[in-house]
Amino acid sequence: MESSQLLIFDLDDTIFETRSIGQHHVASILDTFKASISSCFRTDEVDLIISDLWKYPFDHVSEKYNLDNPIKKQFSNSINGLEYKLELKAFGDFELVRNIETKKILVTTGFKKLQLAKISALKLQDVFEEIYIDEIDSTDRIHKKGIFEQLVNSYEEEQFNYFVIGDNPQSELKAGYELGLTTVQVAKFSQPRSSYATYYIENFRDLVQILGKNNRKFGGN
Ligand SMILES: [Mg+2]
Repeated sequence: MESSQLLIFDLDDTIFETRSIGQHHVASILDTFKASISSCFRTDEVDLIISDLWKYPFDHVSEKYNLDNPIKKQFSNSINGLEYKLELKAFGDFELVRNIETKKILVTTGFKKLQLAKISALKLQDVFEEIYIDEIDSTDRIHKKGIFEQLVNSYEEEQFNYFVIGDNPQSELKAGYELGLTTVQVAKFSQPRSSYATYYIENFRDLVQILGKNNRKFGGN
């Protein structure tokens, strides 16, 4: 029997380069944040923290540097208080993904308002049938793993072959691996291969190939 595929995508640094958002959009936030942590950290540590903010979700950064609650609260308030007018471009080869005729779902971690602004700037509403935001500042958070589990349960009848596609070993790749789903690590910056990755790709061309091969394996044509 042919088994259909269901693709679960990450957003940041998978579909577009997070740093391309441009410092000026968040300059005021970063300045306030810098000021609020400057009494607890050395200048070089402050720079490290800011640089990590561009690479990892805020919860990961705040845990790594043990930021206290008032600082966390202030940061999320300022992120949620901005009006975003973003001009973003997806990675060039993402066009290939738009054309894959398979059910696609987006699961992204972050602050809701900012993630929604990215999604709308990239016109991803037309690409993904369902979009979920794992909200960092939510009190009843189930994280990506919980969202994946709910998805798999809700599609129990359909027996999908699931592919979790993203760049972060500690987030979607780990969650997908632990749930026994096929994981595809997207390494747009030639990041090292993660042990949680079933496949490792630098270009979405390779994703198209992987999906084709797996389809045959499951008896598709
Ligand atoms: Mg990511």
